[in-house]
Amino acid sequence: MPTDRYAVIGNPIAHSKSPLIHGLFAEQTGQAMSYERILAPLDGFRDAVMRFRAEGGRGMNVTVPFKLEAFALAHTLSERAARAGAVNTLIFHADGVIEGDNTDGAGLVRDLLRQGAKIAGARVLLLGAGGAVRGVLAPLLAERPARLVIANRTAGKAAQLALDFTDLGTITGCGFDALAGLSFDLVINGTSASLSGELPPLPDGLLAPGAVAYDMAYGSEPTPFQRWAEAHGAKLALDGLGMLAEQAAESFLRWRGVRPSTAPVQVALRKA
Ligand code: NDP
Repeated sequence: MPTDRYAVIGNPIAHSKSPLIHGLFAEQTGQAMSYERILAPLDGFRDAVMRFRAEGGRGMNVTVPFKLEAFALAHTLSERAARAGAVNTLIFHADGVIEGDNTDGAGLVRDLLRQGAKIAGARVLLLGAGGAVRGVLAPLLAERPARLVIANRTAGKAAQLALDFTDLGTITGCGFDALAGLSFDLVINGTSASLSGELPPLPDGLLAPGAVAYDMAYGSEPTPFQRWAEAHGAKLALDGLGMLAEQAAESFLRWRGVRPSTAPVQVALRKA
């Protein structure tokens, strides 16, 4: 059987778990495909994508720092990619069209619901206003939270982001100092603070009784935000490994037309 080629492209790329995840998905669903890592030079993203496609590649995942370049390179965009302003999945169609999609937000929502978080009717707080937060706003608002607040170190970025999505639901943006006295049912950390062992300044009382806390970052140990949430009474303090597996499953579905099961893959990721 011929083997279809896929790859993840980024810089750096050696740490990427995507080859492990997609290898397990392919095995589980019996798809004849290979999945490799491609390290592109910082000024060589387009060339590397075009080379892979010319060699018969069928699709790619795109990671840091190329998601905006992938957005610009795609001939057509899914609605969620257009809203996100970034692309993490490229689909090379047979007629030559390169489609850009963004599966990060769908992955987050799927993982939240799978792990028992309630979004519909909930008061939701998103910390951060970078690429990851922009990417998840439309899928989160589609679940109809009662309100969605974005809080960021640079308050103006949160306010602008809220303005960009105001047509999709009740959404506001502010700085961390404006959170005093507010409480939420779901708090999602979309800052990169955890990557440097830091925690945004969060007031006591932020978590309502029974609240769920979710850090998009993940590691071998609980993140500072997960530890903070546990110490402040969160019902669940989750990390972003489930989001990683779910966004990959969503890409796999776009490429192969089959949705793989993420549960066994998450077990393998935890072990790895
Ligand atoms: P960006 O660089 O685009 O944005 C970073 C954000 O974090 C900004 O809002 C920045 O604030 C804020 N920030 C950085 N350091 C601190 C700090 N010490 N205290 C408070 N705020 C801080 O990053 P991304 O949006 O791409 O990624 C954010 C996180 O999401 C990362 O941890 C990343 O690993 C994770 N992620 C996880 C995924 C998954 O599948 N699980 C997928 C994608 C991302 P300011 O604007 O003021 O600079």
